[in-house]
Amino acid sequence: MFDGSDERERFRRVFYPEADAARWSDWRWQVRHRLRDGHALARVLNLSETERVALARRAGGLPVAVTPYYASLMHPDDPRDPLRRTVIPVDDEDRLAPGERPDPLDERRDTVVPGVIQRHPDRVVILATGVCATYCRYCTRSRLVGGGERLTGHWEAAIAHVASDSRIRDVLISGGDPLMLSTRRLGELLTRLRAIPHVELLRIGSRMPLVLPMRITRKLVALLRRHQPLVVSIHATHPAELTAEAARGLARLADAGILLAGQTVLLAGINDAPETLRSLLRGLLRHRVRPYYLYQCDPIPGSAHFRVPVEEGIALVERVGRDLSGLAVPRYVIDAPGGGGKIPIGPVTMVGREPGHLVLRNAHGQIYRYPDPP
Ligand SMILES: *Cc1c(COP(=O)(O)O)cnc(C)c1O
Ligand code: SF4
Repeated sequence: MFDGSDERERFRRVFYPEADAARWSDWRWQVRHRLRDGHALARVLNLSETERVALARRAGGLPVAVTPYYASLMHPDDPRDPLRRTVIPVDDEDRLAPGERPDPLDERRDTVVPGVIQRHPDRVVILATGVCATYCRYCTRSRLVGGGERLTGHWEAAIAHVASDSRIRDVLISGGDPLMLSTRRLGELLTRLRAIPHVELLRIGSRMPLVLPMRITRKLVALLRRHQPLVVSIHATHPAELTAEAARGLARLADAGILLAGQTVLLAGINDAPETLRSLLRGLLRHRVRPYYLYQCDPIPGSAHFRVPVEEGIALVERVGRDLSGLAVPRYVIDAPGGGGKIPIGPVTMVGREPGHLVLRNAHGQIYRYPDPP
């Protein structure tokens, strides 16, 4: 079966002749060899003018990093390549559109102790690290990932906060990417949180299974398995990310009984074509990842070129959902500016009321009546 791994192999031999297959498959080697500037990226990609200019102009803000593995999935000559557009800056990133701001969800306001965001009584987000393997240009936390703000060293206060508030049942470990932590460090955090009696569920949000699938080692999976119930929320962008290597990591996680959820940001020109989105969602479910949220792209500075108008997004999701198992259809949400939380958005399906009936519209636009006396 053709799965592109021959191309990755060729990429490795051409650009990293010093790395044998074992090195290439070592996640730490991948992290150390990330492409972090225009110079490094120009070695493996034929950069466009706008990419070159944007890379040269970077100062502060969201850094650039791409794992060699993820770079090997990109089209070297086509700047419109979807994976490329998600991680390589372009001019548009320097344009501020109306309504855009660094912290659109007002996470700073809901930060109860450094590195802990609590917007709901029963759930908290812990920012366990500030770094990622690969930086997404549309990152909702672009203000603080990559070292803009220190996030490590806060663990004691964070753990103490979770322990002190017995309403908290569900802890989301986020960042940055928590799987950038060493397995030992992550193990310490999980063990400390698991020891808190009122914590029922642990969740880890990560993009690593798709940008650095080598991170999903047997040792990591054995650790995660010890801390069940544990959910790994996987940030997935495009079906081209579902390679043989990614499939192996996802299978390891699923075989260990870890619940896998998919999170995707709807991105213009990247995953907003119906066939692309359908293929991504179906592919995730086939790899036992249940698509959970589809996010409208948050208005961080310089993100307008990624945004799909909401009405188009709603029509897209309805159209795509018609031809998918219900399990493959995520909830399309807007994380409300101002800290209102995730609000589902979708077509109006309850279109009216008649005496004794509710009037409903299905995804094909057909009308049905359901007896629902007042
Ligand atoms: C997304 C999020 C949660 C978890 O929301 P669920 O709908 O339970 O997945 C909790 N806290 C914050 C601040 C969040 O952004
Ligand atoms: S992996 Fe997540 S936290 Fe890191 S840059 Fe991408 S969206 Fe942001």
